[in-house]
Amino acid sequence: MRILPTEAGSFPEIRHNEYMILRPVDPSRALPLTDRGAKAPKGLPNGEALKGLLNAQLERLTELQAAFYADKRHALLVVLQGRDASGKDGTIRTVFGACNPQGCQISGFKAPTDLELSHDFLWRVHQVVPPKGMIGIFNRSHYEDVLVVRVKELVPRKVWSKRYRQINDFEEMLSENGVVILKFFLHISRQEQREQFLERLTDPTKNWKFRAGDLDDRALWGDYTRAYRDALRKCSTKGAPWYLVPSDHRTARNYLVTRVINETLERLKPEYPRAPKEILALTSQLQR
Ligand code: ATP
Repeated sequence: MRILPTEAGSFPEIRHNEYMILRPVDPSRALPLTDRGAKAPKGLPNGEALKGLLNAQLERLTELQAAFYADKRHALLVVLQGRDASGKDGTIRTVFGACNPQGCQISGFKAPTDLELSHDFLWRVHQVVPPKGMIGIFNRSHYEDVLVVRVKELVPRKVWSKRYRQINDFEEMLSENGVVILKFFLHISRQEQREQFLERLTDPTKNWKFRAGDLDDRALWGDYTRAYRDALRKCSTKGAPWYLVPSDHRTARNYLVTRVINETLERLKPEYPRAPKEILALTSQLQR
């Protein structure tokens, strides 16, 4: 049985407003990653109206994920990358808060352990790729191996420069094996990062999130911009597109990410498997 689009999935203003849907990064076009590009796109409604649209998308995600989990024909891998304080945690909380937790697995990638470093860089990643029926969420990912590793020169250029191709090959293999991949770069401006850092330092419930190293990375803003630009352009492929998400405005960010996920799940047409006739025939025994 096909799950039918609800009102939320067929909002005419959602369908027809080109500012409200993200397009994959086009490798042939320049990708400036300026502060202006981090602002919510013009044309998005503000305030309560945007919250209403986000809630409608979240409700739709709840329905789609339930069917996706039961269907088990595909896995969905959602990669979240972004500078410190770009909202990776918040996106996970809001967007995947709409999902049944049994159908989601979240993997965070920190500096690799000695064991992980003794393997190839994709070893730790492949182990946590979601199985069919599941949505896997990567909070940072294998892209750190062409981002922090490149910026901080943790391995020589001749090693990290080959990784774009290696990542594309790996992701292509996953996609040929039923893993649908969506990659989101949560793009914030320098000013927004400053405000988020100040909040982390002044709000006692957020102090724990601040690392002194966050300021070292902030000082390398331009180097990270170049590294992100290369990663997004070299690794935005048909089977594993990158989406640049303007993320200074949280509701807009959550709306844009949820919408791409919903449209992707809708294209997969998830269906609830039907029991065979012999099983359905057992209903009569229960009705006796
Ligand atoms: P936030 O973005 O909210 O500040 P976070 O994702 O930075 O949180 P942390 O635990 O503070 O969470 O940081 C994880 C750190 O691990 C990051 O600085 C990241 O660059 C680093 N890291 C991840 N993968 C690698 C890698 N392959 N090599 C080296 N460092 C890595």
